[in-house]
Amino acid sequence: MANFLHQNDLPDGLDLGPVVAIDTETMGLDPRRDRLCLVQLSSGDGNAHLVQIARGQTAAPNLQRMLTDPKVLKLFHFGRFDVAALQKAFGVRTAPVWCTKIASKLIRTYTDRHGLKYLLMEYVGVDVSKAQQTSDWGQATLTEAQKDYAASDVLYLHKLKEALEPILVREGRLALAQQCFDFLPARAELDLLGWDEPNDLFHH
Ligand code: MN
Repeated sequence: MANFLHQNDLPDGLDLGPVVAIDTETMGLDPRRDRLCLVQLSSGDGNAHLVQIARGQTAAPNLQRMLTDPKVLKLFHFGRFDVAALQKAFGVRTAPVWCTKIASKLIRTYTDRHGLKYLLMEYVGVDVSKAQQTSDWGQATLTEAQKDYAASDVLYLHKLKEALEPILVREGRLALAQQCFDFLPARAELDLLGWDEPNDLFHH
């Protein structure tokens, strides 16, 4: 299990397989204002690839190719934000996608706890630290604690999907989940265009 740090893009020829877990770190929570600093990826093999994005960078050809590849499923937790951040940074529409937070909300209606830390504890049996969540991701040299935190946000998403998908099937909500995933790139674009809350398109 290792973290690989890359500058500006994924290395040429790196194949992360048919399902790639992805998370991003930004300067803050507004994808229109706060720039993309780091993109974390994992094939689910226990390794994480961390791609640092430079200020002002507008292209990452290998990453963009993977994000738009119709044969590669991009797996997120709260993908709405990451997909918007990636679209803002590189102008790409990430698809197809799967989101563990949407899956959790569609089946775990007995709780309002849909945070990744909580889900990983319940379904994967790992306790990930969130201590670095609010740190400065724009600094040139990331700390070891930041890299480990960033990696932990993608390392277990495959296992989480494997746990949640059978429950979506059991509860008859897989088709509805799929329609939500299909809509996610448009949802992210609406956010970037100003139709986020309280101007949500579906709001009265
Ligand atoms: Mn994260």
